[in-house]
Amino acid sequence: MAPAWLSPRADAITCQVIAHARAVGSRVPARPLVHTGAMISLLGVPLDANSSHLFGTAAGPASIRAALHSGSGNDSTEDSVVVVPLLDDIGDVKIANERGSVADADAITAAVAIQLETGRQVITMGGDHSITFPILRAFRDVTDVDRRPVTVVHIDAHPDLYDDLDGNPLSHASPFARALEAGCMTSLVQFGIRTATPHQREQAARWNVEMVTPRRLDRFDLSTIVGPVYLSVDLDGLDPSVAPGVSHHEPGGLTFREVLDIIDALPGPIVGADVVELNPSRDLNDMTAMVGAKLVKEIAGAMLARG
Ligand code: MN
Ligand code: MN
Repeated sequence: MAPAWLSPRADAITCQVIAHARAVGSRVPARPLVHTGAMISLLGVPLDANSSHLFGTAAGPASIRAALHSGSGNDSTEDSVVVVPLLDDIGDVKIANERGSVADADAITAAVAIQLETGRQVITMGGDHSITFPILRAFRDVTDVDRRPVTVVHIDAHPDLYDDLDGNPLSHASPFARALEAGCMTSLVQFGIRTATPHQREQAARWNVEMVTPRRLDRFDLSTIVGPVYLSVDLDGLDPSVAPGVSHHEPGGLTFREVLDIIDALPGPIVGADVVELNPSRDLNDMTAMVGAKLVKEIAGAMLARG
């Protein structure tokens, strides 16, 4: 079956919400607003075995879920689109959480592919960033990337382009190297990067990766991004003062508003997304969990408004 963004379907309640999303979608007036999927599947991946410094991101999905449903906020996006009831939480992928595990990667790919095959859009909650390669592999396998190009937009302090890290090719520092090798995307645009080593610069040049450092953000023309887009948000792309609940504190990061501005500027359709690297053991008063939960809501709103 065709994926959600090729196979529009909507129930009556969803149509009302989508009509509202379209009506308030004036933040992006240049683009036609098209609705696609009726609901968005929310999937957790409790994996931290491919981390390189600290562990704890396996508890990330539960923490984002708790923040999404906490009494602190409500179910609406900033544009007053009620999105939380449209998130169908299908639980966590069953994995062994073992370092470098091909079986775990295969389980993630299969779990995402099942959703895409049934016409769902998917937002995945990590887990460390290693989960993004098997997710993108599902998009490659279910859709024809040659026929339907996909731009991956990646927000992170780190390029995650290492050929391998400490002998682990499935490390959380390598998912985009693996995904580029495997032909999972037509282009990669990275924001927030402020830790690139010479090796990772070489890797970026090899694959024509557009690496936008925080210094360059104001000078980068966001309208040059071509859809469809898959969005991957590593929470350490934000400044540690905004998102302290991550394993790697890298000063000089993006503000929450800058990340929302990037999401606002993405062309449709947004075919899928992930929010990764929340480490609740490092969080302060659940503030990073709330950052992750709000990103899930705003990304879902953008999916509904722009397909
Ligand atoms: Mn990352
Ligand atoms: Mn990172």
